[in-house]
Amino acid sequence: MPKEETVNLALRRGLFYPAADVYANAPGGFWDFGPEGSKIRRNIIQLWRSELVEKEGFVEIHGAQILPEDVFKASGHLENFNDPIVQCRKCNSLNRADKLIADKIDDIVPESLATPELDKMIEEHKIECPKCKARDFNEVKKFNMMMRVDIGATGDQPCYLRPETCQSIFLDFKRLYQLHRGDLPLGISQAGASFRNEISPRNTLLRAREFGQMETEIFFNPDKIDEVPQWGEVKDYKINLMLLGKKAKGISCEEVAKKKIVSGKLVAYYIARVQQLYEKYNIPVEKMRFRELDKDEKAFYAKETWDFEVETDLGWIELMACNYRTDYDLAGHSKISKKDLMVNEGGKKFTPHVFELSAGIARTFYVALDLAFRKEKRGGEERIFLDFPARVSPYLVAVFPLVKKDGLFEKARELFEELNESSFSVFFDEKGSIGKRYARVDEIGVPYAVTFDYDSMNDKTVTLRDRNSMNQKRVKVKELSEILWKLSTQKLSFKDIK
Ligand code: ATP
Repeated sequence: MPKEETVNLALRRGLFYPAADVYANAPGGFWDFGPEGSKIRRNIIQLWRSELVEKEGFVEIHGAQILPEDVFKASGHLENFNDPIVQCRKCNSLNRADKLIADKIDDIVPESLATPELDKMIEEHKIECPKCKARDFNEVKKFNMMMRVDIGATGDQPCYLRPETCQSIFLDFKRLYQLHRGDLPLGISQAGASFRNEISPRNTLLRAREFGQMETEIFFNPDKIDEVPQWGEVKDYKINLMLLGKKAKGISCEEVAKKKIVSGKLVAYYIARVQQLYEKYNIPVEKMRFRELDKDEKAFYAKETWDFEVETDLGWIELMACNYRTDYDLAGHSKISKKDLMVNEGGKKFTPHVFELSAGIARTFYVALDLAFRKEKRGGEERIFLDFPARVSPYLVAVFPLVKKDGLFEKARELFEELNESSFSVFFDEKGSIGKRYARVDEIGVPYAVTFDYDSMNDKTVTLRDRNSMNQKRVKVKELSEILWKLSTQKLSFKDIK
């Protein structure tokens, strides 16, 4: 779907919008999520939590967002977390050099290229300033993207807003390992905010300065990278891998492991789980790929990286980085903090290795929204709806009294409260025509709506409407909860309701 329609719908329905926009000088790259937007966002995190954290037996923490400078000395961010920037001499605007070139040549440009090489490419490809169209740039420079905060009354404790959520996971590892009875592999997860001083925030949620991440670091013994007890559950499942210089294709996990396409079964297993998770967000498998990064493109800490990307009208968008970080982080923190972060397994002392699954919450939100957008003509009228799965949509069901009078409002409220107490997420609306109320919930992706009408008063049945087909069925009020539960867990399809 064209980008404008996704963004227009988001703004029209207040799903997300620029932060502090009553002030003209509010910086770009910060976003607020409105009432339904926050619910969708929470559901995106909850689906990840249930499928990729709890089902995998990982533990989840909530770490501090501000961390001392030493953490980022140890992690390498102070030295290496740089973007190449270039300034236009005519209008002074700043841009990311790699992205400017990539946009012009429609290909990937590694951000780690040396600055003279980027200068050369800017010259060779006749790159223009996107703002004033001049072709007159200063030399490319490296710009550190960390956001510094000075803590304490004297401001003498240099700290930084975390640029990725995972650092507290590394810092907490030893404590949690001990609490976890000293067992590897140990997966530690976290969902929360990260901060990067992006030069050119753009495409709304896709490149922001404050954004959510949902990350897991899986700590394991590198000698046991092929020991995965649940391997049987994925071995025949095909994952869409795009090997260096090749087209993406589905390869079974068994073949991936046998041909040593990845470092070990553990890597293939979690890539499969990621693909399965995104299927649950309703992303078609053919629009997903795990792109292997070559050495110029990989982050400074990674031995092996598979970027999980999804195809939209804006091109392929990276939603998650799957990084084999080896012992880089624990060894770095151990060196600077002088604390022993090694473990002892079967008499052998070693620093655990880490496989990381680092996903963007806002990017997942944007892509799920973009791919759920539907526009269709029905009886000469155009309608828009979001084809969200029940687990992502802001509410499972809307309850409407047909009219506000003759006791219908009160009866519909009773039904609303009953459903609410059954732990369903329910929306109630009595204002405006019934058609407008349906249109409103369609646009925010609510899969079902229940209307309480005059007949309901006598025969204790209500109309249940399906968002996608717009079909309606008459169902008994006393059976409604069970039907909704079966629909939401895909144990029943709408057409099979008797
Ligand atoms: P990019 O190359 O797009 O800048 P990255 O490779 O630097 O991203 P990682 O550091 O691997 O990103 O972060 C993991 C995930 O966090 C990304 O896959 C993405 O979903 C999300 N993310 C990173 N930067 C941003 C941003 N500026 N705005 C929104 N989400 C982001």
